[in-house]
Amino acid sequence: MELPVALLQSLEGVPGFNKESFEAIHRSGEQVTSVRINPAKAALLADGMESFRISLPVSGSIPWTSNGFYLSERPFFTFDPLLHAGAYYVQEASSMFVEQAMKQTLDLHSKLRVLDGCAAPGGKSTHLQSLISADSLLVSNEVIKTRASILEENLVKWGGANVIVTNNDPADFSGLKNFFDVLVIDAPCSGSGLWRREPEAIGEWSPHAVQLCSQRQQRILADYYPALAEGGTLIYSTCSYSKEEDEQILDWLMQNFELESLPIQTDPSWGVVTVQSSEAKAFGYRFFPDKLKGEGFFLACFRKKDGDQFHYKPSKKSKLQKASKAEAAAIMPWLKPDAFVQLWKQQEQVLAFPALLEQELQVVADHLYIRSAGITVGKLAGQQLIPDHALAMSTLLQPSIVAVSLKKEDALQYLRKEQVIIPDAPAGWALVKYENLPLGWVKILPGRLNNYYPSSWRILKSGNN
Ligand code: SAM
Repeated sequence: MELPVALLQSLEGVPGFNKESFEAIHRSGEQVTSVRINPAKAALLADGMESFRISLPVSGSIPWTSNGFYLSERPFFTFDPLLHAGAYYVQEASSMFVEQAMKQTLDLHSKLRVLDGCAAPGGKSTHLQSLISADSLLVSNEVIKTRASILEENLVKWGGANVIVTNNDPADFSGLKNFFDVLVIDAPCSGSGLWRREPEAIGEWSPHAVQLCSQRQQRILADYYPALAEGGTLIYSTCSYSKEEDEQILDWLMQNFELESLPIQTDPSWGVVTVQSSEAKAFGYRFFPDKLKGEGFFLACFRKKDGDQFHYKPSKKSKLQKASKAEAAAIMPWLKPDAFVQLWKQQEQVLAFPALLEQELQVVADHLYIRSAGITVGKLAGQQLIPDHALAMSTLLQPSIVAVSLKKEDALQYLRKEQVIIPDAPAGWALVKYENLPLGWVKILPGRLNNYYPSSWRILKSGNN
């Protein structure tokens, strides 16, 4: 693998950069595979962590995160029903460092409003959802429509109710001044940090592309910045090695906004390199694949010193309507008795959203295009609920709902949206489970069964390993 000379030259003098070992690790062909487990679903698994170890070749823990694991080889994830159940997310190890930024700069037990501004496909968002408290809010925004669908799919599978997925331009957040306590910008970048995984991307790299990315990063940050409250935390990251997208962006931020750079403690054994920007001496954290088990990554953290607190002004005409008492009575038996949620109508659909976040939902609905909010419970046909797939994936689901357990082969048939045979099942709606985790719904009718797995998410590949 030949790396661009212009990149190698631009990195001379960057702390932690060693041209020989950097080139050698790119040439080695070594691949690192890692996953992050969903703690809310791991708790439900039939054999806890053992269920993971059966389907995944876990070889060790990622030291800067609590639920991240290295795998000794890359399995065919598609053929693991646990992936489709939202039990884990396949994610690059270095990028899980966002956990340190969150834990070290915030009180994660407090009620926080978090915005993930560049969210698709959802690696950081699913991670953030696992880190925040149940009465905190995560708004996951993705500007590109097709990518917003993938983001929504991954967050639905993750199952958290305190999430709103939006599909807006960063400039649309101007109406939400001072609303968020945390702003995460995992910016689109020139991507040099991922070349070991995607060597074909090397050909697209150029110093000019780096400049364009740097300008775009500044525009995104400037558009989102007003939405962060005074005292709020800004987390900025890229998967680029270029100073123009990393340290120079930190200097640009410090020059243009009232920010304090926040240091993050790292253990020397992790191999993370602490750097400081040349002008403002802002702290940054560089990940080099020849220094640790992970890909190229960069992260920095700031506290906002200007701005104000958010003041809630109820809008005169809310777009959202609460479900009626009769509708709520039909739906509540499907939810855990302690699910403290408000039910809302969105056209035909009913959705469940944490009751303590009612104001937040109203504010977001007033200003943004919502793809999904909380858990889509389903549609009511009279007093009967037609349950949505999101309800099956949700951690709010009533645990005593009728369920059938499938072995791996049948679970894969189900996920292909093909016929599965379920002997002796009672007629009506039933959950399909694998290792005690819900995969979706079936409706059992006399002599046949309807598979309600979402068509667009079904497994298209044949085989099983
Ligand atoms: N945070 C994601 C994760 O962990 O899975 C990865 C985000 S990726 C590095 C950057 C995202 O920014 C992409 O989904 C891309 O579509 C989006 N993006 C591209 N141009 C943008 C823009 N002008 N404003 C905001 N987001 C943009």
